[in-house]
Amino acid sequence: MTKRLHIAILGAGFGGLAAAYDLAKAGHSVTIYEADGHVGGLAAGFKEPGWAWSVEKFYHHWFASDRHILGLIDELGLGGKVVFKRPYTVLLHKNRWHPFDSIPAALMFPGLGWGLDKLRFGLVGLYLRLTNNWRPLETTTVDAWMRKWAGDRVYERMWEPLMVGKFGPYARQVNMAWMWARLHARTTRLGTYQGGFQAFADEFAVILRGMGVDIQLGLAANEVTKLPGGRIAVTTGESQTMAAYHKVLVTTSPGLLARLMPGLPGDYLKGLLALKSMGAVVLTLALDRQVSAEGYYWYNIPKDAGFPFLAMVEHTNFLPPEHFGGDHILYCGDYLESTHEYFTLSEEELLERFIPGIRRINPAFDRSWIRKAWLHRTKYAQPVPLAEHSRNIPDIRTPEEGVYFASMSQVYPWDRGTNFAVEIGRRAARMMLEDSREQAAGSSG
Ligand SMILES: Cc1cc2nc3c(=O)[nH]c(=O)nc-3n(C[C@H](O)[C@H](O)[C@H](O)COP(=O)(O)OP(=O)(O)OC[C@H]3O[C@@H](n4cnc5c(N)ncnc54)[C@H](O)[C@@H]3O)c2cc1C
Repeated sequence: MTKRLHIAILGAGFGGLAAAYDLAKAGHSVTIYEADGHVGGLAAGFKEPGWAWSVEKFYHHWFASDRHILGLIDELGLGGKVVFKRPYTVLLHKNRWHPFDSIPAALMFPGLGWGLDKLRFGLVGLYLRLTNNWRPLETTTVDAWMRKWAGDRVYERMWEPLMVGKFGPYARQVNMAWMWARLHARTTRLGTYQGGFQAFADEFAVILRGMGVDIQLGLAANEVTKLPGGRIAVTTGESQTMAAYHKVLVTTSPGLLARLMPGLPGDYLKGLLALKSMGAVVLTLALDRQVSAEGYYWYNIPKDAGFPFLAMVEHTNFLPPEHFGGDHILYCGDYLESTHEYFTLSEEELLERFIPGIRRINPAFDRSWIRKAWLHRTKYAQPVPLAEHSRNIPDIRTPEEGVYFASMSQVYPWDRGTNFAVEIGRRAARMMLEDSREQAAGSSG
């Protein structure tokens, strides 16, 4: 029989919440420290007066294959609140937008011509969809693999502009397993939660509190230290309040873990600091009318097309404007290095930059359509997996006994997502439970 442990979780994103659920279910005392004033992390949303649903700060949806999060929602008895739809994603070719979100749609895409290129594109897509063997793919880059198997022309027309858009200076170094993961498991049907992702996070928090989990909002951890005797101290808030725990799970970025625990053994610390990631800048607009005349949801914009953003997402072509008091919700977003000027421009300056881009999609667009705008930025949005990335993933069990780490940078080969945040959060909880059982067996043996 293991004793009741006191466990701290840093971060109330989907990973931290999922871990708290399993740890509390196993009978342990769990405290979550969350720097923001709300739960949900990167998937959190915001709500305006008159809106029935919240809007995610960064566009979010689920794929029908997201079994970890959809399974958890079912387990919580909330499965009836998941909504799936089939909105349309499009890609630009010669100033026209064409559907591009499935192999059949891509095969009809005129940018590939009708000859050998289309055949190679189709065969490569089919292979990546069918194979489960991603390991050999991580030894090569998307650039090298696609040039070899799909051909230079297909790669340069279809994939390269998207890679450059997402990964900027790292585009040619990203390994092929990343692309495999994206093409392997994604679906054209996209899902959300009744009320938005924030509604799910809030309902989950109510369930967790009902199980005895203490969720401390607006309280950032500043330091994690090992105490003599083996307990782990978490220091929080401006008052530098310290509390001691048997185990601590950190779910923040690798860089933040390195700052919280600068004394972590050298190799592990170096590994955390060597991980690369991109940030994201997303401007959300509430408009008095629709922008996409065709009703498209997601505009994928090749970097070489000269737009001021990488994606334009009309959320209300996925979910109806009635959920948002009649507002039409439009996101304009980009993935960028944290030193990019978009991280320092004001909301107004960014709007000025973005408006010509929106006008290229709908020439009638006018500033007077905008009722309100919101700007959200994060410096940790998209991990960058370089060649042989599996060797560089930090272990969930850090070398400091009792301290665990679960972040977006470790869900590889999968791309980051709430689905994989739940998976890794629950995996970390499982390890914490296993270790405590082993320690209990060791001390009684
Ligand atoms: C632009 C963008 C689009 C995305 N689109 C999708 C999508 O369509 N579908 C999807 O499923 N996923 C999407 N994702 C990814 C998804 O949001 C993440 O994978 C997921 O939310 C990560 O959850 P997490 O718990 O690992 O981390 P986070 O959500 O980052 O949670 C970590 C938490 O730690 C808190 N924290 C930070 N510092 C401290 C501190 N010092 N003390 C205490 N707490 C702290 C943070 O405030 C945060 O709440 C997207 C992400 C971005 C950026």
